[in-house]
Amino acid sequence: MRDFAYVEPVSLDDALARGRTPGSRFLAGGTLLVDLLRLDIERPDIVIDLNHVLSSAIEVGPAGLRIGALAANSDLAEHAHVRSEFPALREALMSGASPQLRNMATAGGNLMQRTRCSYFRDRAVESCNKRRPGSGCAALQGHSRMHAVLGTSDACIAAHPSDFCVALLALDATVTVQKVGARREVPLDGFHLLPGRNPERETVLERGEVITHIVVPASPRARRSAYVKARDRASFAFALASAAVALELDGGKVRSARVALGGVATKPWRAHEVEEDLIGRPATRETFASAARLGLAGARTTPHNAFKVTLGERVIVRALERAAGLE
Ligand code: SF4
Repeated sequence: MRDFAYVEPVSLDDALARGRTPGSRFLAGGTLLVDLLRLDIERPDIVIDLNHVLSSAIEVGPAGLRIGALAANSDLAEHAHVRSEFPALREALMSGASPQLRNMATAGGNLMQRTRCSYFRDRAVESCNKRRPGSGCAALQGHSRMHAVLGTSDACIAAHPSDFCVALLALDATVTVQKVGARREVPLDGFHLLPGRNPERETVLERGEVITHIVVPASPRARRSAYVKARDRASFAFALASAAVALELDGGKVRSARVALGGVATKPWRAHEVEEDLIGRPATRETFASAARLGLAGARTTPHNAFKVTLGERVIVRALERAAGLE
């Protein structure tokens, strides 16, 4: 680990002003940044601690849920309103990491998670376009069992690791972003970027911008939502494939649906084709199985991760069954 300056800003404005400095990084729960500092993947000159200048409040109003960026994953998962009205959020949070990490990790930090691609996390590996732009991608010819099959490019096939973001996507969440003198609302679907030719750029955040809140709107679908995750072991493992769904039913038929995928894509992935196929059809296993096939139809696989197509379809079906009360 290299030396860096540690700063405790006196206010959010102070933090935002300092965050414009090249070489600065923001710190919240530290479960990601400290990890990457130790691996010498992140090499900041200045670390700006946000823990005294952002909110950890979880507020409930008629419009839905407003989550302070510093809210701990464990507090959010245990919140009574989240448990009753946004079950997919709780299920996604509880499926991630370990109890110790969930106590430390924050809602805002969860959106900033970086890939677990082992080539990215190993500085001895030369070829990683995400870590060293233009250096190539070791995973393309290497071991790619955990890598993405949707949203990939010739420059990067790294999977996005978050569970929480997948649930937020299925619940139409937006992200409140602040910089000096300006605030903007970013729909979660537009927050993360596809790798394209520049996989080092992962979100729409500009230098000096900070996530202050996440807003999850109340909707007829939210209460009938579910998250299903397939992984190598029952805890402390990243998704091989996961699905968050939210359903609105009308007389046994699907009136509206949201379907989002994790573990299979380079960013939290909205399966629009599945959603459209479900509308107006009876909420049955047969309907869900035929719609699920559309979700992975555009997959680009390697010999190591081709299994994710079938697994991805199965988690979609399982999540839809759970949301529809068929399990
Ligand atoms: Fe780097 Fe992406 Fe290739 Fe992994 S998949 S080695 S993160 S460029």
